[in-house]
Amino acid sequence: MATSEFELIGRHFARLGAERNDVRIGVGDDGAVLQPPASRELVAVTDSLVEGVHFPPGSPPSSIGHRAFAVNLSDIAAMGAEAAWALLALTLPESDERWLTDFARAAGDLCRRHGVALVGGDTTRGPLSITVTIIGIVPVGVALERRGGKPGDAVFVTGSPGDSAAGLALEQNRLHVADPMAAQILRDRVLVPTPRCEVGVALRGLANACIDVSDGLGGDLEKLCVASGCGAVIDAAALPVSDALVAAVGREVAREYALTGGEDYELLFTVPLARHGAMTHAMAMGLGPVTRIGTLVSGNGVRVSARGGVTQFSGSGFDHFAR
Ligand code: ADP
Ligand code: MG
Repeated sequence: MATSEFELIGRHFARLGAERNDVRIGVGDDGAVLQPPASRELVAVTDSLVEGVHFPPGSPPSSIGHRAFAVNLSDIAAMGAEAAWALLALTLPESDERWLTDFARAAGDLCRRHGVALVGGDTTRGPLSITVTIIGIVPVGVALERRGGKPGDAVFVTGSPGDSAAGLALEQNRLHVADPMAAQILRDRVLVPTPRCEVGVALRGLANACIDVSDGLGGDLEKLCVASGCGAVIDAAALPVSDALVAAVGREVAREYALTGGEDYELLFTVPLARHGAMTHAMAMGLGPVTRIGTLVSGNGVRVSARGGVTQFSGSGFDHFAR
């Protein structure tokens, strides 16, 4: 797309997102020149969305634009950093103005909301795929990690995991829900996920370990446990399932979705007993919906207690809950 590429970039991506005065050179040169604040560390993340793999063919461009940035913002949040700059590598089968307008508008809205400036990228022709890189800023030494969890820490999760997986099942006609309101709420959760950016920043100095839930709560908790060298016990009854999800599939299956569904982009984190007071205070100050779902323990693996029994989580938690 050599002839129109220049125009395409100028029209849709030259000034996308927030205006930041730490961008000395943005889109238009061979590279972006950024001025990081003194005595800060940078956190860099990248994630790709490929049509047919990460979203179904024909997904709304506004959803694709939002999600491409949201999934990266979620990783930045999980590190306790503040997102600052983004790069966008876009591979398009054709230059469809309407598609690009909707894609760029949704991406720009989300970026502005989180103070992120698009500072560069690449545009090529090929099967639809979007790779976003975001660089965030964090004070030295306070970035959250997966590995800081200790036995005795309480395990918390933001929001209501499971909605997104149910929304995807709805989109793919694998699930049918009678209640149209519930169905719409669940669809929106997969099409327009909310990265928990403010929560990530609020957890600095509070959480011992943090991970964002992209592959499913149980599996991602396992990753946190492996990195932290401990295990976890979670209480199935404590899993925060949304009213919409319960209306759609019933409480029991809702918990299975919460435990094994993916693409939630919630934050899963652990807090030591000594900081529970500070945690409660942060919640009162508007940390947002967070729910305690269990405890880190010595040993390894994730166990789920449900109906008086305890079972090992194996990545296919569906087996472990009678319907
Ligand atoms: P080069 O050939 O030097 O790599 P390009 O012609 O590909 O440069 O890009 C020109 C400018 O536009 C660069 O600053 C690049 O970062 C930017 N750019 C290209 N594609 C995008 C995109 N999809 N989003 C944002 N910036 C882009
Ligand atoms: Mg160049």
